[in-house]
Amino acid sequence: MNKPVTLEALERAMRNDELVLFYQPKVCLLSGDVIGAEALVRWAHGDASVLSPDEFLPMVESNGLLHDLTLQLLDQLVEAIVGLRNCTVVKHEAPIDTLPPVSFNSYPNLSLSINVAPNDLASRSISNHIAALLQAGTIQAAELQIEITESAVMSNVDLVYDDLVRIKDMGVKILMDDFGTGYSSLDRLSQLPFDALKLDQGMVKRMGTSLQNLDVVRSAISMARELGMTSVAEGIESESVYNFLIAHGCEEGQGYFLGRPMSLADFKGFVGSEHDFEGSQIGRVHQACLNLLRFRKTLVDAAFCSRVGAGVALQSVADPGLQAEVARTRLGLWYFGIGQRLASHAVFHDIEIPLRQVHASGLKFLEQLERHQSVAVLDQQLAEIDQQIDRLISLLHSLERSILACKPNGQPINGRL
Ligand code: C2E
Ligand code: MG
Ligand code: MG
Repeated sequence: MNKPVTLEALERAMRNDELVLFYQPKVCLLSGDVIGAEALVRWAHGDASVLSPDEFLPMVESNGLLHDLTLQLLDQLVEAIVGLRNCTVVKHEAPIDTLPPVSFNSYPNLSLSINVAPNDLASRSISNHIAALLQAGTIQAAELQIEITESAVMSNVDLVYDDLVRIKDMGVKILMDDFGTGYSSLDRLSQLPFDALKLDQGMVKRMGTSLQNLDVVRSAISMARELGMTSVAEGIESESVYNFLIAHGCEEGQGYFLGRPMSLADFKGFVGSEHDFEGSQIGRVHQACLNLLRFRKTLVDAAFCSRVGAGVALQSVADPGLQAEVARTRLGLWYFGIGQRLASHAVFHDIEIPLRQVHASGLKFLEQLERHQSVAVLDQQLAEIDQQIDRLISLLHSLERSILACKPNGQPINGRL
C-alpha cells in the first residue's frame, strides 16, 4: 500500500523531478495508425512505486503548485517531442509505388497532448512559454496539443477564453476533455475555439449497456462533425467498442485496448513496432461515405459563407477534408492506408481515380470561390462534384457488398451467411 502523501514529500518530489509524464497512445480510427499520445503525470517514487494523478494532484492543486508543475511537465513534454522525432513510426501505408506523390516527411510524425487547468491559462505564462518554443523553432505547432476538461472550461469561460484563442491562433490544437460531463450547449461549443471533442470515458464505457447510451455516443460524434471538430474517444477497452466507434465515424481513440499509459522509453518502442488495430473494414467503408458527405458540406458551407460575406471560404481550406494532398484527406488516409488491405476486392481499385477527381474538383471549386466566379460557374462545378460523389458512394456500397460476400480470410462465402 502507498504511503500517505505529505506536502513536504511532494515539494521534494517536484524538486527532484520525480513527477514524470507517461504516454498513452492515440490511434487514428480512419487509418489504424498511432498518431501520438496523451501525456499523463505519474509520481515515480524512489522505492519503485508509481502514484496516479488522483493520489497527489488534489494536493498539488490545493497548495497552489499546479501551475509550476504544468510548466515543469511542459518542458518534459518538449523533450519527449524532440526525442520522438527520430523514431520511425510504423504506418499502414500503401507500398511506395502505389502512393500518390506526397512528402510525408514534411509533417510531424506524432502529436503529444498535455492536460492543463484553468489557472494555467489565466496567468498567460503557459501561452507565453508555448509562443517562445514555437518562435525559437524548438517544436512545431502540430506536435503539441492542449487538453482542458469541459467542466473546467464551462465554469471559467471568462478566465480561459482569451488564452485558448491565443494558443489556437498559434496553430496548436485544443481538445475539450471529458466531453459529456460539463453540459455545454451546441451554441456555447460553437463559440469556443476547440478543435476536438474527447468523449468522456464513462460515456464510451456505458455505450454497450443500452440503446439510449449508444445514441448518446452517436450524437456526440455527430455533434463534433457538425461543428467541424474532430471526435476522439477515450476509455476504449474492447475490440467491439473500437469497431462501433469506427462504424459511427469517430476519428481518433485511446484506451487500454489500444495501449495503456507507459514510460517514454516504452512509448518509443511502441511507435516503432507493428500494430494491428485493423478494426472493422465495413465500418471504415461506411465512414468513407460519411466523409464524402462531410466534404461536400464543407464546400457548400464555404460557398454560403462567401456569399453572405463571412469570409470563411479560405479558412475552410484548412479542413482536413480539403487538404491539398489527396492522401492526407480523411478519405485518402483510409484509401491509401489501411484500406489497401481490401485490394483483393476488384471494386476497390475503381475508387482511386474518382477519389482523386473529386478531391481536385473540390479544390478547384474553392479556387473559383476565391476568384469570385459567377453563380453559374460555381453551380456547374458543384453539379460535377455531385456526380463524382454519387459515383464514389455507389462504388463504396459495392465494396461493402463485396466484403459482406467474403469470409474474414477473403474467401467467397458459398451458400448461407
Ligand atoms: P484525463 O485527462 O481524462 O485522462 C484519461 C484518464 O483515463 C487517465 O487516467 C488514463 O490513464 C485513463 N484511461 C485511459 N484509457 C483508459 C481505459 O481504457 N480504461 C480506464 N479505466 N481508464 C483509462 P490518469 O492518468 O489516472 O489521469 C486522471 C486524470 O488526471 C486525467 O484525466 C487528467 O484530468 C488528470 N491529469 C493527468 N495528468 C495530468 C497533468 O499532467 N496535468 C493536469 N492538470 N491533469 C492531469
Ligand atoms: Mg486528458
Ligand atoms: Mg479525459
